[in-house]
Amino acid sequence: MCLMNKELKQEEQKNENKPVVYGRKKIFVRHVWGIFQKKRWISFTFFASLFYILPWIRINGRQPLLFDIPARKFHIFNVTIWPQEIYLLTLTLITAAIGLFFSTAVVGRVWCGYLCPQTVFTSIFLEIERLILGDRPAQMKLAKVPMTFNKFIKLMLRNIIWGIIAIFTGFTFMSYFIPNNELIDRIINGNLSGWALFWFILISVFTFFDAGFFREQFCLVPCPYGRFQGALQDPNSLVVTYDKKRGEGNKNLGIKGDCINCNLCVQVCPTGIDIRNGAQFECIGCARCIDVCAIVQQKKGRSPDLIRYASENEMKGLKTKIIRPRLIIYAAILTFLISFILFKIITRPGFDIEITKNRSLMYQKMPDGSISNMYFVKVLNMSEEEQMYMIKLKDLDGSIITGENPLKVKSGDVHDLTLTVVSKPISNEAISKFSLVLERIDEKGKGKSVEERTTFLYHE
Ligand code: SF4
Ligand code: SF4
Repeated sequence: MCLMNKELKQEEQKNENKPVVYGRKKIFVRHVWGIFQKKRWISFTFFASLFYILPWIRINGRQPLLFDIPARKFHIFNVTIWPQEIYLLTLTLITAAIGLFFSTAVVGRVWCGYLCPQTVFTSIFLEIERLILGDRPAQMKLAKVPMTFNKFIKLMLRNIIWGIIAIFTGFTFMSYFIPNNELIDRIINGNLSGWALFWFILISVFTFFDAGFFREQFCLVPCPYGRFQGALQDPNSLVVTYDKKRGEGNKNLGIKGDCINCNLCVQVCPTGIDIRNGAQFECIGCARCIDVCAIVQQKKGRSPDLIRYASENEMKGLKTKIIRPRLIIYAAILTFLISFILFKIITRPGFDIEITKNRSLMYQKMPDGSISNMYFVKVLNMSEEEQMYMIKLKDLDGSIITGENPLKVKSGDVHDLTLTVVSKPISNEAISKFSLVLERIDEKGKGKSVEERTTFLYHE
């Protein structure tokens, strides 16, 4: 932050202590730079770059992250999640939620301040606005003057740059569902229509208005996270805190406080709150107030941490407990879920079988007295290579009649076949449970097998 001594003095002299609740009025956010903003921008740059660059990378000819909705397959690097493995995605989302609970219990809203896409895009848009319109005082001045040619050009330039980023964001978002080369072709040839066009426009328009104008209101109104953070934190959680005792001093004892009422912590706050009023659900944990107050305090030759990450217990003069039961429980659940997901991914055979019994012809008597049942079978090759399989019977004395056994299935293909199972009737048995085993017989995966249980009907 480039705050000159003179300006700081003026701010101090004014000691304005203006009303700091801006209500629904536009919040003009003052620029600030410091230790925590540096960390935040490293995080923003990393995640924004990852988001924009990933769709342009190809690994084995495919995007590293692709949600192929029509084929109902999700490609995450070289792992393909099939519809029958969708529980893995569900478990991943649950793991992310528990991770959020864990991080909130440790360091409050670190997700909101450093990682949330809402914060990342809003911060980028705020910086563009500052570069074009100037910092807070210049923006406030510009907002008051009537529309002039100069003002119009500045606002247009800002909106055009926001618009370009918003459209590129819409395009990038869609690239996670339609490979970006195909998306470009469809846009150039005017073939982008239906849901694809709808989502492209929606995400672009949403990014423009949300990051440009709605900003902090998204965190304060529709986002539920801020409202239940109280339940996720405890007196040992490290959150952005104003050291009231040090800041206010003690009038009775004649001890002057370190807060000089410069109001800068309010002016840099993207949600327009005053951290000196204590913990508030509007605080997104961006630490901008920490950085600005550190500059103020250092200029005054005082310790920079009047506003800092601190726990409620620390403020009461108690010890902050790092290891506590809720963290141990979260860590145990996280360890279990992550291990389970990894175990499932590493040990999955890469192929599967699905069986549906023919319901229109439940069973048939053969001339030699044996009984036949017909099944519709799907063989899924979920791997990156072509595979050979043999279908076998288990727990049933009988034989399989099909024109395709053994069978070859290409990588990523679902092979449909119809097969008939023939067995001799067992006295007094109307139904028998058995398995169809799909065994891999090619060199690379010899011996690996999966099976599915089904029923064999002798009579009704
Ligand atoms: S807390 Fe720090 S930044 Fe805020 S008014 Fe006091 S001295 Fe200024
Ligand atoms: S109070 Fe401080 S940490 Fe909280 S949102 Fe405002 S500037 Fe960010």
